[in-house]
Amino acid sequence: MQTIRGFRDILPEQISLWQRVEKEAFALFDSFGFKEIRIPVLEKTDLFARSIGETTDIVEKEMYTFPDSKGAHLTLRPEATASICRSYIQHKMYAEDPVRKFYMTGPMFRRERPQKGRYRQFYQIDAEVFGIESAYIDAQLIFLLNELFKRLGLTGLSAHVNSLGCPECRPSFQKALLDFLGERKDALCENCARRIKKNPLRILDCKVESCQRALSGAPATIDHLCPACDDHFSIVRSALKKQGVDFMVDKSLVRGLDYYTRTAWEIKTTTLGAQSAVAGGGRYDGLVKELGGPATPAIGFAIGFDRLVEVLEQLELESKRSSLDLFIVALGDAALAKGYLWSCELNQNGIRTEVDFRGKSLKSLMKRANKLNATHVLIVGENELNKNQLILRNMDTKEQSFISLDNLVSELMTSLKK
Ligand code: ATP
Ligand code: MG
Repeated sequence: MQTIRGFRDILPEQISLWQRVEKEAFALFDSFGFKEIRIPVLEKTDLFARSIGETTDIVEKEMYTFPDSKGAHLTLRPEATASICRSYIQHKMYAEDPVRKFYMTGPMFRRERPQKGRYRQFYQIDAEVFGIESAYIDAQLIFLLNELFKRLGLTGLSAHVNSLGCPECRPSFQKALLDFLGERKDALCENCARRIKKNPLRILDCKVESCQRALSGAPATIDHLCPACDDHFSIVRSALKKQGVDFMVDKSLVRGLDYYTRTAWEIKTTTLGAQSAVAGGGRYDGLVKELGGPATPAIGFAIGFDRLVEVLEQLELESKRSSLDLFIVALGDAALAKGYLWSCELNQNGIRTEVDFRGKSLKSLMKRANKLNATHVLIVGENELNKNQLILRNMDTKEQSFISLDNLVSELMTSLKK
């Protein structure tokens, strides 16, 4: 039996980077006032169709949608924002305090062509802020992402920032875009030709090369901002500048989901080839209302966890920290009985200790201690027990010292705690 295409196991040997990222991210979210939220993997199809947009690639081509045995239309979540909005509305979270900050991590599902950095089950780390219209929140989220990547030791990233405007500025932009597209209809792919009427903004995000070529010089949302959106975007830019966050204004950035308004951004890396976006985000001030809640400004981002880990792997930033503090070489039944009790007590106290219970020879146990990369080895045989002198060996320095049975566990804890 094999995993299905685009799905994969993350094996224990690979997990330390994933855990390091989670630890750094969660600590940072906590200090910025975010609370964790957990949402279902399965939702009604309608939730995603209405929020992400009927004519987006995700909804048209990429969702895992199926009827359950009673015919309900269900979809494996392709992203988290829609579900978090649903939750915010369903639990009337706005009633108590409209300002809420959430984060979550978990698998997302999109039926795309699998390749490096692109999977059908992939993971995101997601953050969302509800109830704040101020541009300082936009800047703060980009700053937070930047800080996280800095803490992880990532280099070679660039933040692309744009403003998509609001319903006020859309008509003027839409008109300019339609005029532009009208003259280039024949150069567009089939998909885009179809989208001209339904959703012309989507065409700007088409990945087909001939479309990209035809779109060079296309009107940009940023040149059609209403005064309020223009002010908003200036505050974002000047706050980021003051904070020393490196970014560039990218007029052509539109993002692949329909719900975005005003600020949108992507963090790109130069090291992953075509799969260059490691995180993307933006404001979606109309979505909560669209899904049946009260008008609520909101903004969020998603980090592509798999891609982030791949970048870190390339930078070989994983510390080769040993995963074992003590290996007990227990020779004979009496030693095993003691070794069992000591190891449990040490484990209980946070010292990573292993005993091999398989009754192997000294030579093969020392080999195993090396293989497990233990920092210390405790040698316990009949002789050592009789003499009340156990041998503690530091595997890095090769130094040996004797240690007696009295207060052994607390003695070990003091000598092994860093
Ligand atoms: P892309 O342009 O690479 O398809 P996207 O715009 O579809 O990305 P978003 O919906 O913004 O992606 O999701 C946020 C992040 O999730 C992306 O920046 C990316 O790092 C990651 N991501 C998206 N799709 C996949 C996938 N199929 N496999 C792995 N990571 C993904
Ligand atoms: Mg995509």
